[in-house]
Amino acid sequence: MSNVIGIIRALNSGVKHLAIKRFTLRYPEQKLKFVGDGFQFNPETGVGIAGLRGRHILFHEHCTGCQLCSVACEGIAEAISMVKIHETWKHNKKAIMPQIDYGKCVFCGLCVDACPFYALYMTNDYELSSFTKSALIYTPAQLAIKPNIAQDVEIKIDDRGASHG
Ligand code: SF4
Ligand code: SF4
Repeated sequence: MSNVIGIIRALNSGVKHLAIKRFTLRYPEQKLKFVGDGFQFNPETGVGIAGLRGRHILFHEHCTGCQLCSVACEGIAEAISMVKIHETWKHNKKAIMPQIDYGKCVFCGLCVDACPFYALYMTNDYELSSFTKSALIYTPAQLAIKPNIAQDVEIKIDDRGASHG
């Protein structure tokens, strides 16, 4: 019986996708433009807000150095290390913040869910390739920079998935 339900679901999904307009993206001349913000955590509803899981953004003014993001990542990819920062924040007495290794990160978003201070979100930045492994390691200062993304083809991600105009 479960096999039959599985086949019906697969067919249903296939039929739904027949109506989706196809396009070919001439990357890197053309790039995807994600409408709206990346994946975030909504403190009001207690669940994540749909969005692209690209490179993170770290809000230093909110980060307490609690390390919960790092703990969340431990069993997943061990991509987060807590490192010393040269800034003084009253709310971050240990002066430590997360550094993320994008050579290890699997973009699961669990660190964003785990952050109790809404200091860590994800952005629409998906162009992270590099010639060296060390350039994939983003320090707290690099993570604080809002990505500047110039892109062409608009893609919207919401609770129903991704769609384009
Ligand atoms: S999104 Fe990356 S850094 Fe965050 S928990 Fe997942 S693997 Fe770790
Ligand atoms: S980003 Fe969030 S979870 Fe990670 S150390 Fe800062 S406050 Fe804690």
